[in-house]
Order: sequence, then structure tokens, then C-alpha cells
Amino acid sequence: VADLAINGGEAFVSGRWLPLNVEITDGRISALSRDLISASRTIDAGGLKVIPGVIDSHTHFRAPAHPDKEDFASGTAAAAAGGVTTIAEMPMADVATTTVARFEERRRLLEKDAVVDFAMIAGAGVEGLGELAGMARAGALCFKSFLRPSYPGREANFGGLCVTNDREVFATASAVKETGLIWSVHAENHDIVEYLEDQLAGTKSGVELFLDARPELVEVEPVSKVALLAEYLGVPVHVVHVTSVRAADIIAHARVRGVPISGEVCLPHLVLNTEDAIRLGGLGHLSPRVRDEDERIELWHAVERGTLTSICSDHASFSKDDVAKGWKSTGKPAAGGIAGTEHLLPLTADEAVRLGLGLGVAVEALTERPAKHFGLWPRKGNLLPGADADITLLDDSSQTTITGDAMRSKAKWTVFEGREVGVRVTTTLSRGRVVFDGAQVVGPVGGGNFVPGAGG
Ligand SMILES: [Zn+2]
Repeated sequence: VADLAINGGEAFVSGRWLPLNVEITDGRISALSRDLISASRTIDAGGLKVIPGVIDSHTHFRAPAHPDKEDFASGTAAAAAGGVTTIAEMPMADVATTTVARFEERRRLLEKDAVVDFAMIAGAGVEGLGELAGMARAGALCFKSFLRPSYPGREANFGGLCVTNDREVFATASAVKETGLIWSVHAENHDIVEYLEDQLAGTKSGVELFLDARPELVEVEPVSKVALLAEYLGVPVHVVHVTSVRAADIIAHARVRGVPISGEVCLPHLVLNTEDAIRLGGLGHLSPRVRDEDERIELWHAVERGTLTSICSDHASFSKDDVAKGWKSTGKPAAGGIAGTEHLLPLTADEAVRLGLGLGVAVEALTERPAKHFGLWPRKGNLLPGADADITLLDDSSQTTITGDAMRSKAKWTVFEGREVGVRVTTTLSRGRVVFDGAQVVGPVGGGNFVPGAGG
């Protein structure tokens, strides 16, 4: 007899919602059936949606660097509560993951603390190119580089990840190509940003200065560059957190010609716009910046068309002061994302419904597409027999309010405070075990498994 049955729900299978019951044996999906399934244990999913567990392919829990802000236990608990069953952790830590030894060290830390399964993204920078092959064999999901210098005050976090001139960019792209893995790039022309900040400093300040110093060109220029590298070197490029329609268009046109390039879009850019950033004041320093409303809608259409492969959180836990005043009060924005892994699924699912695109558009970009793109398919990202029983149950007929207080992330604050969402996670299963029961994260710390990339 099977271990577990999920009966009565509507399951998302191969892009369609079907009235299928799910049978689970030994941590894997063993059957789908229109008939009620009997098992040792049954979950009644009547009235609920049954989807593959979300793959959040872009998180910065940063452990062991800043335990006061986040660690792997709190970050992956937040993931579980958000219906995320696999995270991909970025290489930033106090010493970035740019060598095999550091990769293994961080893997051990994740194995000790992770509540859900985890993949690891390794860093690629000119000093550590000799380590790339070893990290690929150790199971790196892909390699990450920044085409900009470190954020002020955070040099230890970014050490070895920043490739800031064309010699370094070319060398790094060539070396990543040799590994056969994807090269994930943060594409931002920081020279233009700095020039514009200087020019505008007399007339603008605060978040308006921050926004105006980051026109579309700041992203479009380096995306064009990496698209050319993908074309001429054959290195598969993945552009992280695409914010602009023009950048998405460059990716789309290259893809049509068979160039190995893809892009992702992150939570803030799908649900916030320029007006929101101005309303948020200092807390609107989200990097990369969010853009105007028409761009936000176009990004959704690029997700719908598949130009932008996946949706992820770019989760990073900062204090309000870090965001408003800069890291260690440098006055310059600390960096990237928001502590969003917990809200990634509810917010993007809610927004996809609100925009009339349908829940499935968000679900596909959160599950199946990242699994296929990063080589985790068919083990992850689907409900077909044989797949890991990573399953999330959703109630899309109740309203809940997002609050910082309720967060499992140590951030305990969010730019989405008070926002009403019509999608709620009621259960998260990791390989057949309940890790979130709708109220509490019950999955054991250390229950998460390492999910190696294609070279591991
Ligand atoms: Zn990031």
C-alpha cells in the first residue's frame, strides 16, 4: 500500500488543471489517478490546487555570513512556508563560494540546516577560474558573475565574483563554457550609474536619484554584450533579474537565432513599479530598480511567451536601515532583493490571476521551466510518476494579508506589508514529508537534500 494519497484536488500536470489524485511511495510520486487512492495516510485536497513544489532558483541566505539577518534554517523555513521545495543558493557569503573547498564547506552547512532541498550556484571570477571544473563536478547548478563591482561595504560578500572589464568578462565566459554549465550574469553597467549619479546629484536625491541614475540602457548594454558572448563563444548565458522590456527583447531575438541565452524575472519587478518605489521612499532602493507600470505588464507577457524562462525571488534579508541608508550606512544601496521567498508563490500567483493570465502562467514559470532549464527535470518541477514528491497545496479562494510579523525569514519586514493576496499555501511536502502544514513549518532542520547540477 502507498504511503500517502492526496485526494480531491485539482492537479497541475503538463500545463493543465486536471482532477487527479496523487499517490506517493518512498518519497516519490508513484501514480496519478482519477479514482480515489487509498494509502496509509490521506490528505484531503478538496477545493485546493495541487502543484509541483516551487523551485526558487535565486536566493541569498548568505550563511554563514550574517546570522543576525538570515541563516539556512530560517531562509529554508521561509521557503517551505511559501510552497518552495527547492532553493538555489547564490555564492555570496563572507567568503564567496569560488573554490571547491568553500563549495563543500557550504554544502555541509546547508545539509545541516536546510528544511527543503537545495541546489548551489558557484561563483566565477578571474581569480578562481581553475576551480570551475572541480565545482562543476562537485554539483554546482551553474556559475554566477557580476558585471559590476561589489556594492559598497560588501567586498567580502562579493570577493571573486565581480568581472569588471572586458578581458575578465571574456576570460570568465570562455572558462565557464568549458564546464558545460550555464553562466548566470548580473548585467548592470555600473560606470553609467556612477556617472549619472554624479550628474544628477545637484538636482535629485533619495530614491528619485537612485531611480533616475538607472535608465534602461544600464541593463540593455551589458545584456547585449553577454548575448554576443553567448553567440560567439557558445557559452549558455542566463541573465538574472531582467527588469526591462528592451533587455527581454534582446534575449528573445537571440533565442530565435538559436543563441543559448535565457532570462529570469524576480518578484519585485513583477509586482512593483516606479510609483511604488517612490511611495516606499528609502525602502524603494531595490536593486536592480523596478520600472514603470507598462514595463511591468510587458515583463509578465515575456514570462507568458517563455522569453523569460523563470520567476524567482532574489531573496536577500536586509534591515530597513541597510536598504534605506546603505550597508553600514555607506549611503549607497546595500544590494539586490528583498526577503521574498516566502511570498514568491502567493504574490506572483495572485498577480497572474489579477492580470487575467491565469494561475498556470505563474506556476509553470516557478516549477517546470526552471527545472528543465537547470537540468533538474524530471526529478523536480512536475507531478508525473517518478518525480520527487515535492508538492504544494494552494487555496485560491481565500484572502490573506501579508505581514512582516508572520514571516519566518529573520527580516520580519516586507515592502508588501498589508497587501491582500487571494492565494494561500496550505501544505508543502518535501519528498513526501509535510514540511509546512499551513500554520507551522514542521519539516526538520537538516531534512533538505543536496540537488546536484548536470555536472555532479
Ligand atoms: Zn541576486
